[in-house]
Amino acid sequence: MTLRAEYDEDNIFAKILRAEMPAVKLYEDEHTLAFMDVFPQSPGHSLIIPKKPARNILEADAHSLCHTMATTKKVAMAIEKALSPDGLIVTQLNGAPAGQTVFHLHFHIIPRYLGKVILNHANGRMADIAELEDISAQIRSAL
Ligand code: AMP
Repeated sequence: MTLRAEYDEDNIFAKILRAEMPAVKLYEDEHTLAFMDVFPQSPGHSLIIPKKPARNILEADAHSLCHTMATTKKVAMAIEKALSPDGLIVTQLNGAPAGQTVFHLHFHIIPRYLGKVILNHANGRMADIAELEDISAQIRSAL
């Protein structure tokens, strides 16, 4: 995958947006959706996506990007309130060589806890869905 390619309507996040695949949702509005990463690098790892199709930051229009950043901040504040992490990583990868594995623009929020290591990106270790539901309920109640 290069930085410039056709948007694949069948990527996982497009399917989540069309409710063809399940997701543990945190927040949704007209322009954005936030949900739990099912292969979390740390407890509370969340993803924020625009609803408007764009493979990466180069393709997203400023309007869509502003809404996505506003939702990223909203979810970050809720994660701070709900989970009391010691740090928060916000990342966004563009193109396979940069580590991108799902080709619909998304921002990661990865909570960091003092003395605890985080798992590698794309570690393939699927979370227990009941645990994800529990953490997501805590975050949602802090929104
Ligand atoms: P990236 O590698 O930056 O494109 O990030 C894609 C992220 O999506 C990874 O952190 C994966 O763990 C996560 N992911 C993959 N499939 C799903 C899914 N079905 N639901 C939620 N998160 C997913």
